[in-house]
Amino acid sequence: EEWKDRGAAVGIQQDYDANGKPVSRYIKKGVKDFNFGQTLGEGSYSTVLAATDRQTLKEYAIKVLDKRHIIKEKKVKYVNIEKDTLNRLTDHPGVVRLYYTFQDERSLYFVLDLASGGELLGFLKRMTTFDEECTRFYGAQILDTVEYMHRRGVIHRDLKPENVLLDDNMHVKITDFGTAKILDPPNTGSGSSAFQPDAAPDNTRASSFVGTAEYVSPELLADKNACKASDLWAFGCIIYQLLAGRPPFKAGNEYQTFQKIVALDYEFPRGFPEVARDLVERLLVLDPQRRLSIEHIKNHQFFDGITWGRGLWQQKAPRLK
Ligand code: ATP
Repeated sequence: EEWKDRGAAVGIQQDYDANGKPVSRYIKKGVKDFNFGQTLGEGSYSTVLAATDRQTLKEYAIKVLDKRHIIKEKKVKYVNIEKDTLNRLTDHPGVVRLYYTFQDERSLYFVLDLASGGELLGFLKRMTTFDEECTRFYGAQILDTVEYMHRRGVIHRDLKPENVLLDDNMHVKITDFGTAKILDPPNTGSGSSAFQPDAAPDNTRASSFVGTAEYVSPELLADKNACKASDLWAFGCIIYQLLAGRPPFKAGNEYQTFQKIVALDYEFPRGFPEVARDLVERLLVLDPQRRLSIEHIKNHQFFDGITWGRGLWQQKAPRLK
């Protein structure tokens, strides 16, 4: 297998040539440039470690992917999608940013923003439910980030509280773009990077099931087709879950969960706030075209008082309650 890595040069170093003439050289970061610390988590094909840049002392999370395992399990495509989407989404505070990639014989390395708070799901489990103020704030940060992703032509396809990480300010950092879909591939190949020569075209995967049963949209189940509005279905599930403490569609197994989704078979627990209920009911709509648009969600009464855009990210996160 060939693992091409055309990662961008990451800095310019002033140096001198043999005649003493100043020259600029591109330098690329590598394993040796980081001090590795504790393990932050493990995925099926990866381990995420805390790390510090030896020069700048900036802290990162480095995702280490095992090449042999990825090839054996035929996941090369997903690794490439993750890298290509992250490379498209580098200028929004709500997306875990990819700074550098490099590799050695055994592993691929993704140098990412450190989300030291861990998963939103962890906080939800500890709190059982969030109050309306916290749901509004986290909902707003997630939505603002989804809007940015969609503008940049990326459908996430696996939004859920496990994939919403939190940084040291308790602000949202969305992760896990391995099952994302790029809508309008860049016209030149120069920016994107395939590790493997036989990588299949992106659209072959549009028809396969990706995501997590509880958050999967009815259109994906019915016509195996995800669209931007599929992320808004998942967003509706998340808003419901933050307030209710459990996702709206949950059953003993995946098949039963799917049955509930396509039948729109869910209920609100007693005491579920009225305005939030109205929002969720306008998001959990079977026809994706009739689901509330991002613009309409932002203007929904549930988000009254939210400043959208930059201000949302300069704000202090509410204390969880
Ligand atoms: P799988 O590959 O099985 O779907 P995953 O997507 O969770 O699992 P990873 O992306 O390798 O796999 O993440 C492993 C764990 O590391 C996760 O539980 C996550 O909470 C944690 N993690 C991932 N990225 C970061 C990050 N940037 N900062 C802090 N923790 C992270």
